[in-house]
Amino acid sequence: MSLASRQDPICYLRAAAGKDEPVRVVVLAGGVGGARFLLGVRAVLKDQAPQENAAPEHRIQVIVNTGDDLTVHGLRVCPDLDTVMYTLGDGIDTERGWGRRAETWQAKDELTAYGAEPSWFGLGDRDIATHLIRTRMLDAGFPLSEVTAALCERWQLGVRGTRVQLLPMSDQRVETHVVCQIDGARRVVHFQEWWIAHHAQPPVEEFVFVGLDRASAGPGVLEAIAEADAVLLAPSNPVVSIGPILAVPGVRQALRGTSAKVVGLSPIVDGAVVRGMADKCLPALDVAVTAEGVARHYGPRKADGLLDGWLVHETDAADVPGVEVRRIPLLMRSPEATAAMALAALDFCRG
Ligand code: GDP
Ligand code: CA
Repeated sequence: MSLASRQDPICYLRAAAGKDEPVRVVVLAGGVGGARFLLGVRAVLKDQAPQENAAPEHRIQVIVNTGDDLTVHGLRVCPDLDTVMYTLGDGIDTERGWGRRAETWQAKDELTAYGAEPSWFGLGDRDIATHLIRTRMLDAGFPLSEVTAALCERWQLGVRGTRVQLLPMSDQRVETHVVCQIDGARRVVHFQEWWIAHHAQPPVEEFVFVGLDRASAGPGVLEAIAEADAVLLAPSNPVVSIGPILAVPGVRQALRGTSAKVVGLSPIVDGAVVRGMADKCLPALDVAVTAEGVARHYGPRKADGLLDGWLVHETDAADVPGVEVRRIPLLMRSPEATAAMALAALDFCRG
C-alpha cells in the first residue's frame, strides 16, 4: 500500500494540535538505528509536504545522543551526530552504517605506522575533515550545538517542505563510561573502548555518564519536546543511546510534561538486537532483552515513566500496563519498510 493512500496522520496531528500549521516531530536518537529510522520519518513528512513552495515547513528536531563522543588524536569525534548527519545528508557508507561513503584510511595507516594510540578507533580520511572543523570551532569557543548546525549547513538534511535540525542532547561533555572486568581487573573505560577495542565482551557492572553532574540540556532541547506535536523514541540502544539523553537534567520531566504523545519503537526484535550490543547493555540494568523488557524499562507515562505507546515487531508481544502496544513489521530493510514504521509511529501519536 502506498503511503499516500493511507490515512493522513500529519493532517490529523496538525488539526489535533489545534493549529493550521506544519507539524513538529521530535525524535530521540542514537547512531545507526536512529539515523535509519529518521530517513523514514523524513520520507513520511515529505510525502505530506505542503504543495506550494512558499508554505511553511514541517520540522523534524532530532535530539541526538552525545554520550559516545570522545577525543582521538586531539580530534573531537561525535559518532552519533555524524552518523545522523551523514545518513540524512546522503554521505553515509550504507553497508557499514557509519562513516563516509568511499572512505579511505591513509591517515589511520600513517598513525599506526607511528605506533600512535588509540589504534582501535577508525578515523577515515574524509571523516577527519569533519572532526578537524568541529575541533577548531570548539577550540574557538563555539558550543557543540552551533558547531553541529554549521556542519549540517553543508549536508542539507531537509527535503522539500521539511526542515531537519540536529540538537545535541547537551553542549557540555557527557561521556558514557563502562565499569567492567578486563583481564581479571576492575576497570573503567570509555564506552567506545569497551565496544570497539573489547568487542563489548567484558561483563558490565555499570554504565556511568561522566560529566552529567555539570550538564544541562542543549539549546532548544526542552523547548522542542514541550512544543512537539509528536515525540518518537527511535529504535536506538535504550541504555547507551536513549539512556544518556534521558539522563540529561530536565529531559525526562519535559517528556512527561509534553502535550504530545510519546511513542517508542522497539530495538529488540524476536528477543535479539538487530545490530549492535544492546543485548550486552540491558542486563547491566536488569532489563530483559525483549520488546517488553525495554518498554517496561521506559515505563508508562501514566506511572512515572515516559511512554504512551510502544511499537513491537509483528512476531513479538509486550504486556506493559499503562502503555498501548501495537504490532507491525519493525525491520528497516528498505526505505519503504522504514517509512511504514515512521508512519505507524506518527499515526500512533494522534491517539
Ligand atoms: P548506534 O548508536 O550506532 O549503536 O545506533 P542506535 O543506538 O541508534 O541503534 C542501535 C539499535 O538499533 C540496536 O539496538 C538495534 O537492535 C536497533 N536496530 C537496528 N536496525 C533495526 C531495525 O531494522 N529494526 C529495529 N526495530 N531495530 C533496529
Ligand atoms: Ca552510538
